[in-house]
Amino acid sequence: MGKLKNKSAIITGASSGIGKAIAEHLAQEGANVVLAARRAHKLQQLAEDVEDKYGVRAIVSETDVTKRSDVEDLVKHTTDKLGSVDIYVNNAGVMLLSFLKNDHVDEWEQMVDVNIKGVLFGIHAALPQMLKQQSGHIINVASVAGHEVFPSSTVYSATKYAVKALSMGMEKELSRSGVRVTNVSPGAVDTELTEHITDGDVIDMFKDRDMTPLDSEDIASAVAYAVTQPASVNVNELIVRPMHKK
Ligand code: NDP
Repeated sequence: MGKLKNKSAIITGASSGIGKAIAEHLAQEGANVVLAARRAHKLQQLAEDVEDKYGVRAIVSETDVTKRSDVEDLVKHTTDKLGSVDIYVNNAGVMLLSFLKNDHVDEWEQMVDVNIKGVLFGIHAALPQMLKQQSGHIINVASVAGHEVFPSSTVYSATKYAVKALSMGMEKELSRSGVRVTNVSPGAVDTELTEHITDGDVIDMFKDRDMTPLDSEDIASAVAYAVTQPASVNVNELIVRPMHKK
């Protein structure tokens, strides 16, 4: 406990699921957290909870990661209030699984906007500050779908392979800069993510899943592990999958 005291951490997609759990874990380790997403009322509740529970500062930032200016404002707001950006968690994402034949082109576009452009805007906004500090840690939440492609995950996987490529390139480019990079690839986690799927063929397919999904806390504790290592240790890749039913 307390390994992140006085550090500042921005978490995108902190209004639910994995992002919310990451924010709680980092606050538990003493970090001041900046909670970013579109649903400000959810962020406000979380901010009050972590401030009460862990005695850290929690700042709410209503942010749409597909808007470059929102993400720039998020980082500026953080440096103005907390003086640094020590951890930036690119977690916001959407998984609108569909079969290509069903042609959900609007959803493909949305996934590209949130999952790829949102991450790029995060890098654009946070990296210059971290390079100036000569320290920092960027966590990119990818997916096991960024390591293999499943039926109906073709476009989602394309976005998560892109996230993995960004992580790999950053790790190489930044290895002498003091900025660390971790690509986190969860398997199935019990969150709101699948509730947004509209392709009826996929919804039917999901009824036959033979696994118990992970809890968001399982991913948050993996992130907490990566960010609490000594500054000389760069944990580049974490893959966390649920077990299948026996
Ligand atoms: P949730 O749906 O619970 O959370 C998604 C979060 O992303 C929400 O906080 C949502 O906030 C935010 N978000 C979505 N669109 C935007 C946007 N345009 N701007 C800002 N925030 C946005 O799902 P998870 O917690 O499961 O997902 C978190 C990450 O984990 C995603 O990147 C996902 O791809 C990845 N992942 C999840 C897995 C799973 O099985 N659950 C498996 C592998 C990876 P709001 O709506 O308030 O803006």
